[in-house]
Amino acid sequence: MKKIIILGSTGSIGTQTLDIVSKMGNDISVYGLSVNSNISLLKKQIKKFKPKAVCAGNPQDSVNLKKWLSENKIKTEVFCGAEGLDKLVSAPGADMVAAAMVGAAGLSPVVKAIESGKDVALANKEVLVMAGGEIMRLAEKKNVRILPVDSEHSAIFQCCNGEKKSRIKKIILTASGGPFYKYGKDFSKITVEQALDHPTWKMGKKITVDSATLMNKGLEAIEASVLFGVPIEKIEIVIHPQSIVHSMVEFIDGSVIAQLSNPDMRLPIQYALSYPERVKSNIEPLNLAEKGKLEFYKPDFDRFPCLKLAYCAAKKGFSMPAVMSAANETAVSAFLNKEIRFTDIANIVEKTMKAHKINKSRKIGDFIAADAWARSRALNLINKGKRK
Ligand code: MG
Repeated sequence: MKKIIILGSTGSIGTQTLDIVSKMGNDISVYGLSVNSNISLLKKQIKKFKPKAVCAGNPQDSVNLKKWLSENKIKTEVFCGAEGLDKLVSAPGADMVAAAMVGAAGLSPVVKAIESGKDVALANKEVLVMAGGEIMRLAEKKNVRILPVDSEHSAIFQCCNGEKKSRIKKIILTASGGPFYKYGKDFSKITVEQALDHPTWKMGKKITVDSATLMNKGLEAIEASVLFGVPIEKIEIVIHPQSIVHSMVEFIDGSVIAQLSNPDMRLPIQYALSYPERVKSNIEPLNLAEKGKLEFYKPDFDRFPCLKLAYCAAKKGFSMPAVMSAANETAVSAFLNKEIRFTDIANIVEKTMKAHKINKSRKIGDFIAADAWARSRALNLINKGKRK
């Protein structure tokens, strides 16, 4: 039986991962859970899944949680904060870590999980964007698997099954296009509510805004380049509004292999958990005749400048992708707080990247430093804009 630790268990991917775990029966059990702040849902998850250990985001929550556990006579160990998270993922009793947290906070626990020899089911794409080369090198050294949970990367992973890397001619990453692909009006007037209304996928807020700016696809292109060891120039994006073809791989003989299904994150989550096996699922079967047509368009890099910024960051490499991703996280959170306009997201990312002096170090600590620098720079830009 596989024993799994789920980081970010109360988020969108976290709850769906637990849903899959409960359906997989005796093949898998929950060893640990971590949350940022949703303690009331964590309590429900503890009652249902009986983990050996959990981690809460802040000290006050962990104190309250310990009290609640002893009142309910539940023997679950409680860790707290970033240090606690590192301890939780290093626990020798677990085999796999599902990283479903949002943003750069996932980097340190993912590194610790790999160092302690655990396979990682990775939904946290910022981790690979920040320090992907190092993560992959470390994983190879420790002989652990990085299993993609993102639907596109799961598709590419499945298309490449049994193939050598040298046979890949290019990767064709599909994008739904988000809510504004055909939007004819002024992008600077786009509201938070409009940006959060995604046409095909139900996801967390940060990634939904990233899907609206298409930064999500830029991050995914970098993620694919890292995961599959293919240069960014060989990763092509195609808009596919129906979200049925989750991505494709073109091989040197001209064959293009694609993976299709109805859009449902539970499928890539389940494949990562059951790999190398395939198991039954409750996902709605795909009926292509009913769908009628599948459309594909070229993406517009001018209307969606975040795409350009991501490719530029990938080409520059080293600390630049970390800077781009951190500036984006900061700008998206300011947009969600209604402090900046939709179009300011790309502006802030671009200005932060332009001000960055690339650091060629490969140390994880230096990627974290680049991330911190970019956040403070982006915050400065946001505050400057507010004073105007
Ligand atoms: Mg995706």
